[in-house]
Amino acid sequence: MADTTKIINCPACGKEMTKIFMSKEGVNIDICLNGCGGILFDNRELKKFDEYSENIDELKQAIQDKTFEQTDENKVRICPVCNTSMVKNSVSAKGDIIIDECYNCGAKFFDHGELIKMREEYPTEKDRRQALLSQTYNEIGSKIDDLELKNNMNLAKRSKFLKAMDKLFYKDVS
Ligand SMILES: [Zn+2]
Ligand SMILES: [Zn+2]
Repeated sequence: MADTTKIINCPACGKEMTKIFMSKEGVNIDICLNGCGGILFDNRELKKFDEYSENIDELKQAIQDKTFEQTDENKVRICPVCNTSMVKNSVSAKGDIIIDECYNCGAKFFDHGELIKMREEYPTEKDRRQALLSQTYNEIGSKIDDLELKNNMNLAKRSKFLKAMDKLFYKDVS
C-alpha cells in the first residue's frame, strides 16, 4: 500500500496534489488544489472515509470558491501511486458518475465534484453499495452470459462465482 505521506502528482492534470487532513476519519486525502480539483484515495483511505460518510466538511471547505482546470475525463489515467493504467468505472446506478480505479493498488480518483455528486445521489453508504451491487450483478451477469457461450460455464460454477461476489460486496455493509 502507498505511503500516504508521499507527495503525488494528479493523474488527470499532472500537478502536485495537496494533502488535506480529515480529522474525523484520521486520514490524509490528496486533492488537486492547484489544478483540476480531482481527489485521490488509496484503498485504505476510502474505506475509512466510508465509515464516517456524514462528514466531508474539510473536503468541501478546501474546494469551495475555487475554480479548477477542465480535464479530459475520457483520457486513460495512470495511477500516481503504482504507475498502472487506471480503469474507468461507474459508481452510480444512473451511470453518470465515472471514476478512475487502479486495479493494482486499489487507488480511486474522483474528478472534481464527482464525490459530492455521488453522496448526494445516495445519502448513505448502504444505499450506494446496494445500488452499485445490483448494477454490478447486471454487468457481471451479461459478462457471464458471454463467457458461458464461449467456455460453456456450467450453472454450479456460475452460482459459486455469484456467491463470491456477494462476499466481496456485502462484507463491509453494517
Ligand atoms: Zn489535477
Ligand atoms: Zn495503483
